Amino acid sequence: MALSYQSTRGKENGVTASQAVLKGLAEDGGLFMPSEIPTLPIPMKELAGMSYQETAYEVMKLFLTDYTEEELKDCIARAYDSKFDTEEIAPLAKAGGMYFLELFHGKTIAFKDMALSILPHLMTTAAKKNGVDKEIVILTATSGDTGKAAMAGFADVPGTRIIVFYPKGGVSKVQELQMRTQKGDNTSVVAIHGNFDDAQTGVKKLFGDKEFAKELAHKGFQFSSANSINIGRLVPQVVYYVYAYAKLLENGEIEDGEIINVTVPTGNFGNILAAYFAKHMGVPIGRLICASNENKVLYDFFATGTYDRKREFILTNSPSMDILISSNLERLIYLSAGWDAEKNASLMADLSRTGEYAITEEMKKNMESFTGGFATQEEDGAMIRKLFKEVGYLMDTHTGVAAAVYQQYKEKTGDTAKTVIASTASPYKFSRSVMEAIGGPRETEDEFALIDEMSRLSGVPVPQAVEEIRTAPIRHNRECDVDGMKAEVRDILGI
Ligand SMILES: *Cc1c(COP(=O)(O)O)cnc(C)c1O
Repeated sequence: MALSYQSTRGKENGVTASQAVLKGLAEDGGLFMPSEIPTLPIPMKELAGMSYQETAYEVMKLFLTDYTEEELKDCIARAYDSKFDTEEIAPLAKAGGMYFLELFHGKTIAFKDMALSILPHLMTTAAKKNGVDKEIVILTATSGDTGKAAMAGFADVPGTRIIVFYPKGGVSKVQELQMRTQKGDNTSVVAIHGNFDDAQTGVKKLFGDKEFAKELAHKGFQFSSANSINIGRLVPQVVYYVYAYAKLLENGEIEDGEIINVTVPTGNFGNILAAYFAKHMGVPIGRLICASNENKVLYDFFATGTYDRKREFILTNSPSMDILISSNLERLIYLSAGWDAEKNASLMADLSRTGEYAITEEMKKNMESFTGGFATQEEDGAMIRKLFKEVGYLMDTHTGVAAAVYQQYKEKTGDTAKTVIASTASPYKFSRSVMEAIGGPRETEDEFALIDEMSRLSGVPVPQAVEEIRTAPIRHNRECDVDGMKAEVRDILGI
């Protein structure tokens, strides 16, 4: 059965999956949602024997209904290949009584690779299917990981250009080097004088600029998004939650049908929303534990029913979660309002006008499967240290937030259901913070000295993604103010 997509703000509907992938964001500023969340038609026992690629096909075909079997299988085969350093693609590691779903075995060693390895293929296939004759310009705001993963996917892909905006001073050293050394004639990187929310708001503004869109069309360009607002990011992320459950079953860790919990270190709410979709497709998931760092806007939201972004933006050592406007939450708002676009649009209008909105009791009830929690930088560091000292497993700072929040949850509730922790980055990506967590403050300025020490201590070889940037030349030096983003895009495109 064909699914169509509609905007969470109600002004656009009847859009095909491939059109939604191409557009990224709906014209009314809303996010695309499928007309229903499909149910998994295959028993978990059968999925348990499948490879990652086979699982991906079974899940994605239910959402991307206008892609042919051949098109989708081709996209999957190109995405999940030897770019990943393990055939399992997303292995599960058991440590300290938790199951870490390692989503960092791709090219840029963060979970963004899971979706951004396939998005360029979904998008170029969509362009062909829809007879697009313009060059696609991917505009992306990044809190550090999306930018690199998107460029790695789109570099030198014919018919595309990619422009990435990141917050200057708001990303880790390794993240910054990864972006600024990016190869590819069609890639551009701009450091903005602002934080991630400024970058994301600026990009959304450019998307909403109708005059600019017309001018671009005239010059042969059209914008799209690689951010997690794109349904082509969300759908591939559902796959690994289905896969994780199937692997637990295959490995005899759970009985068929046994309820598990999932804990996700959260920023823009994309990853945990994918887990929620998996639950609604029929994966036996009980609680969805939403873990925040000190930017705990989501924790407060789940506790009170009021989303309030009017607060200080805190730079933490889990920078990919330093976010106060979690874009994908809009999809949950829409769902819990009973797929009511009008209600959602009015709440989003409140947010942009007053900086906050409050949901109804009924909506709150519809979100009951979520539990919010947060961990401070000290709690994060302590958790990383504890797990490393006790069982020798080394986590990054984002995964540390999730593990710390899960432990708090378990102590408070006594819930002993098996729990999958989404492990979103390799510790090598946040080498300084991780080394400080396990060994105290460091004098050295030399990031690579810390990286080599990490390898000695953990016994895990330095990943290829880090070796690559050790000596790579800096290729990108652009910087701009928040209100200079449009001018920067013009300059890059030569218009
Ligand atoms: C992006 C990112 C997150 C947050 O994921 P969302 O889907 O934005 O909630 C967490 N950890 C890491 C390492 C990330 O790169």
